Amino acid sequence: MMLKTPSEIDIVRASASKIKDVDFENLAFGNTFTDHMLVCDFREGQWQKPIIKPYEPFLIDPSAKVFHYGQAIFEGMKAYKDENDDVWLFRPDENLHRFNKSAKRMAMPEVPEDIFLGGLNAILDLERDWVKKGLGNTLYIRPFMIAIGSGVIAQPSTQYRFMIILSPARSYYSGEVKVIIAEHFSRAANGGIGAAKAAGNYSAQFYPQKLAQEKGFQQIIWTDDATHTKLEEAGTMNVFFRINDTLYTAPTSERILDGVTRKSLIELAKREGIKVEVRSVLVDELVNAAKDGSLKEIFGAGTAAVVNPIVGFQYKDVYYELPKLENSFALELKDKLTKIQYKLAEDTFGWTVKV
Ligand SMILES: *Cc1c(COP(=O)(O)O)cnc(C)c1O
Repeated sequence: MMLKTPSEIDIVRASASKIKDVDFENLAFGNTFTDHMLVCDFREGQWQKPIIKPYEPFLIDPSAKVFHYGQAIFEGMKAYKDENDDVWLFRPDENLHRFNKSAKRMAMPEVPEDIFLGGLNAILDLERDWVKKGLGNTLYIRPFMIAIGSGVIAQPSTQYRFMIILSPARSYYSGEVKVIIAEHFSRAANGGIGAAKAAGNYSAQFYPQKLAQEKGFQQIIWTDDATHTKLEEAGTMNVFFRINDTLYTAPTSERILDGVTRKSLIELAKREGIKVEVRSVLVDELVNAAKDGSLKEIFGAGTAAVVNPIVGFQYKDVYYELPKLENSFALELKDKLTKIQYKLAEDTFGWTVKV
């Protein structure tokens, strides 16, 4: 797939680059941004001309609907540099489609491909130097859309702003992750917005996550809201369980976000001859597997960390520690996937797209 550049896109270059002030060896995730941002407004029923301009704050009215009713969605992607200094994206069309699915659910306008992918191609072309070579170096991409129309009447806005900002990042390592299984709080419900990458899904998680952290757990494994018996996601990642030598992950639904990493790991595992079953795993099954020793691994899957191994979980005040493994599926799959992303292994799936 080739990325188009919009025929009309204004580019205003920054007068100087901030890149020389950045310590690429010591980057805290998501705090440093590149020299430029892409901005494209929607008004009077139409997307306007996109502009790439110096990264800077902007003014919007205090009554803008994003502040009051949370009409806000986003995506998370990464760009990678290979040994020949070429820059690559991983399955960007998946992010475009998911973004527009989120937009629809939040009564926001869909963003055309030439603005989303074409605009991304144009801004990445300008910021190539910010994508560093070497396994673990990435440029994290944050496309997002907010309702900027003013007025506190509770109706969808008629004006929106789509933006892309870029943040250099080192591979994300969150340390040892212990999780607690949700018995009361829920991330999502049938008929709700759990399948959308909506800002509100994240704010709704902060309080339960804070309570979990106070008890010494880094993340929550979310269960279904109706019965709290099915395991659904780990924090803001999809979740996989390995029982004996089979990997299990829940099917996507209205409550589970359709992660690009999740679906890629499923295909990769199948190619590697690892047995994968897409079905709900019950909390009881997990507890029993932990007790009889057949539970080998739990890991989260998402763009930021790729794979995030979990060392143990707590349920109803009992903590279950996972065994330390020699042949971890999580680490094997992470290694295989990252090598495809950095063009260090052949991309037999056709997932990588050159900028
Ligand atoms: C973004 C996200 C994921 C992971 O999706 P990727 O496309 O793999 O990055 C999983 N769960 C939730 C709730 C998310 O918001």
